[in-house]
Amino acid sequence: MNSGAQRSPLTNQVTLTVLALAAFALVIVVGFGFYAAMQADHASLERQKIFFANGLQDQIAAVEREQESISVWDDSVINAKAGNETWMAENLSVWMYSYYGHNRVYVLDAAGRPIHAMREGKLVAANLYAEDEAALRPTVEKLRSLIAGPPAEGAAGGAAKMVAEDLVSLGGMPAIVSIAPLVPSTDRVTQAPGTEYLHISVEFINDAVIARIAGKYLLEGAHLLSLSQPTGSAAIPLVDSRGVILGYIGWDQERPGLTLVRKAGPALIIAVLLAASVLAFLLRRLRRASSALQTSRNEAQYLAFHDTLTGLPNRALFEDRLRRALLIASHDTAKVALLYLDIDRFKHVNDTLGHPAGDELVRQTAARLQRTIRDVDTVARLGGDEFAVILIDVHGVRDAEDVSERLQQRLREPFKLIDDQVFVSASIGIALSAGPGADADDLLRKADIALYEAKRNGRGRYEVFAGDMDDLLLRKRKVESELRKALTGGTGIKLNYQPVFAVDGRTILGAEALIRWSHEVHGALPAAQFIAIAEERGMIGELGKWVLREACRFAVRTELPWMAVNVSPLQLRDAGFAGMVAAILAETGLAPVRLQLEITENVLLENNDTIAAALVALRQSGISIVLDDFGTGYSSLSYLRRHAIDKLKIDRSFVRLLDKDGNSTAIVRALVDLAIALEVEVTAEGVETEEQKALLVGMGCHQLQGYLLSQPLDPIQLLGLPGLAPPGEEDGQAIASA
Ligand code: C2E
Ligand code: MG
Ligand code: MG
Repeated sequence: MNSGAQRSPLTNQVTLTVLALAAFALVIVVGFGFYAAMQADHASLERQKIFFANGLQDQIAAVEREQESISVWDDSVINAKAGNETWMAENLSVWMYSYYGHNRVYVLDAAGRPIHAMREGKLVAANLYAEDEAALRPTVEKLRSLIAGPPAEGAAGGAAKMVAEDLVSLGGMPAIVSIAPLVPSTDRVTQAPGTEYLHISVEFINDAVIARIAGKYLLEGAHLLSLSQPTGSAAIPLVDSRGVILGYIGWDQERPGLTLVRKAGPALIIAVLLAASVLAFLLRRLRRASSALQTSRNEAQYLAFHDTLTGLPNRALFEDRLRRALLIASHDTAKVALLYLDIDRFKHVNDTLGHPAGDELVRQTAARLQRTIRDVDTVARLGGDEFAVILIDVHGVRDAEDVSERLQQRLREPFKLIDDQVFVSASIGIALSAGPGADADDLLRKADIALYEAKRNGRGRYEVFAGDMDDLLLRKRKVESELRKALTGGTGIKLNYQPVFAVDGRTILGAEALIRWSHEVHGALPAAQFIAIAEERGMIGELGKWVLREACRFAVRTELPWMAVNVSPLQLRDAGFAGMVAAILAETGLAPVRLQLEITENVLLENNDTIAAALVALRQSGISIVLDDFGTGYSSLSYLRRHAIDKLKIDRSFVRLLDKDGNSTAIVRALVDLAIALEVEVTAEGVETEEQKALLVGMGCHQLQGYLLSQPLDPIQLLGLPGLAPPGEEDGQAIASA
């Protein structure tokens, strides 16, 4: 049974989708996180650049302010023009260095000649100005033109502040330069326009200055980068007024986004791992639930298509396989053979050894069949003890016959059931598909007919379906339907009565009811024949009841000591049989002692509790039981002893040979002796000659029946016999028509 944990494609699809979605979500979250971090870093960098730019502007403004503290001053004008070196050093240059940190100071006279110079806190020769002159000249000229131009309005309404500033490179070092004219701070000193001395203050943008700027904004690692040094993203250029880059300020970029990612990273990873494990757990649960579902679905499917006792395919699966096999075979020259197999005497095993043994027999039979056929063929259990085998790729009847022989041989080997060893045989019906378009139902029907023939021909054999079997079946069907019609309409069927005589050949002891059916087309059908059809088609119960009622009704109106009625074994198997007989006796008013029931030997052989109980009940009510056709069956002495019998009826086949064959004479004598020994009555049927009669009488036979003494008669004829008409009814007419 394939109930394995294979998963449905749906489960795989769901799992894949969930995993893909989870991966997608992860990528989105991580990607978005990084993007946001980068954006944050970028925004932060822009801010940092603005900080530095502003810082630099502030620094330039500071230099200007510091310069202004000495450039607008009466004393500066006086002392500069006086060429007072000492005063200038104390107030305009060295002081600027020591107090504000201005690195270089130059004082130029009205003609632009240097008159005073200071570098790094030390007075130097004024002509050293020449070294910086080229770099400073544009700013100097800018200031000169400012001074010469029309006076601009300052913010406070007075003359605008005169100052020119710029970034310059001095000896490869970027610097802030601020140039302002020395002007009087009061009206006490006057100075003619164009005669102003200029004060030049230079502050190098060195690491100390940069650190001061950076410190204000809490930025770290700021330093000067020369033009030749590579710059990262965290740098701003130092550009002079003409757009020339003089160097860079670089710093350690602050990355808040990255920092956040780094700090949150481990927690994030743990969260992702947790989510992943929850997801994995849920998916596992889903897959497990789905595989459990799949398993139970497989099981249900298996149960729907297999027999629980043997595990073989059941009828549904069998029919499906047969249909497929026929479909495939229709494209092929090979044929499909169907073997319909039935265990002989299975019921006997079941009844005598019990149902568990019967089940075991079925199971072992299934296993043997399965082992005997090829893997490509199919064995199925169709119910009870019936199996079907589908053989594919069959090239002729011989193939199917070979397999049947092998199967039968296998089943003839002893079976070991629980405590008993049992021998059984099997009957097989074979049908072969006839070319393309073969129909499964038709094949099954044919195999069934062939099986029936095999059983009829003595069991333990196989029979191949032949065309005329079909005809036979059709005829049986026709007879069946007509018999049913006759039975329900009460037309066509009637009873004849054959008297049974005492040994004198004149005294009528009783009569046997024999059914007659005159068919419109077929004429008078032999009783044995249509009785067999009625038995086969399940009509015997109804028919038997009709006969019994009819015979009892008739007997009541005659002086006959008793009436014998034939009973089919199938009727006896019906648990309600004894009750039915009692009801009919009550209904017709016939005394039970006037009724005899004729049964056949094989009934006793069945060893069936129902039948045994029925026989006991019938005898107890006063009815006699007669063993018909005695000598043809299998009855053993023990059976006869066990089932109390009132009368034996020696079969016609022995009586017929009495005067011709010494053996038969001996057998009949033995049968009569047996009856006498068992202390039961004995009748001989089929007495046709005086010799037979004389021999039987000589042997001690009590009763005689046969054409010699009387044919079966219709009611009128019977009542015409002396002493049989009921008192007060001289002619039987009235009764016969009743
Ligand atoms: P059976 O019970 O053994 O009946 C005796 C058969 O032998 C009858 O045939 C009868 O007509 C025939 N017979 C009687 N005397 C002679 C004779 O001297 N020579 C020859 N050759 N035959 C003789 P029938 O009526 O055709 O019945 C055949 C069998 O059908 C019966 O055998 C009985 O088993 C069965 N049968 C008949 N009527 C009924 C019935 O109502 N119910 C049942 N269940 N079976 C019946
Ligand atoms: Mg009989
Ligand atoms: Mg008989």
